[in-house]
Amino acid sequence: MIITKQKNFDEILQILGNGPIFLIGCSECATLCHTGGEDEILAMKEALEKRKIPVSGYVVLDPACHLQNNKRMLKEHAKELENINKILVLSCGNGVQTIAKLFTEKEVLTGTDTLFLGEISHVNEFDRQCVLCGECLLDLFGGMCPVSRCPKSMLNGPCGGASGGKCEINSELECVWDRIYQELKKRGNLQVLSVIQKPKDWSKAGAVKRRI
Ligand code: SF4
Ligand code: SF4
Repeated sequence: MIITKQKNFDEILQILGNGPIFLIGCSECATLCHTGGEDEILAMKEALEKRKIPVSGYVVLDPACHLQNNKRMLKEHAKELENINKILVLSCGNGVQTIAKLFTEKEVLTGTDTLFLGEISHVNEFDRQCVLCGECLLDLFGGMCPVSRCPKSMLNGPCGGASGGKCEINSELECVWDRIYQELKKRGNLQVLSVIQKPKDWSKAGAVKRRI
């Protein structure tokens, strides 16, 4: 899931200026992150209207990053979109860009910051799990990713700085290499660590590929 957080409301007010505004949310990741689902869109609408910023309408796209589906869903809001120049989107940056393609003559503004690809570990708690390296190594490491979960992306064992199972860079993080070791030991599979991993081929990464 793509993890987002809503921008500070004052920051949003600053980028919006005066209305009227049309609001767009997303039914998928932003809903699960509580940053751009129906509840957050309605809360934003109320907060803007309290500040006397008119909201012409809103929609929660299903999902915001689906170009063709967006065209279909937004047709139903043509009237509300007709006379407005600003659209505030509460979705990941991917959704914002998909929507911006459809409204080149309007200002499409983002009300969220997009952080990483991660899991929902608890309500409103998210952990980074993948950096889209394009060449997945999870099967080698007991289902845990050292590329994304180790701040140094160590591929051939720990850096040696962990203390009590915690990462030396951030003591709130567990050292993923400690976890990998424990997991492989439990599975009687420690011998996989004797194979030296070559540096990753970052030309395969999502950051390099523009289209598949
Ligand atoms: S190895 Fe690469 S693709 Fe697999 S989880 Fe880690 S970053 Fe993502
Ligand atoms: S302590 Fe562990 S998780 Fe932290 S940087 Fe070193 S190897 Fe990576």
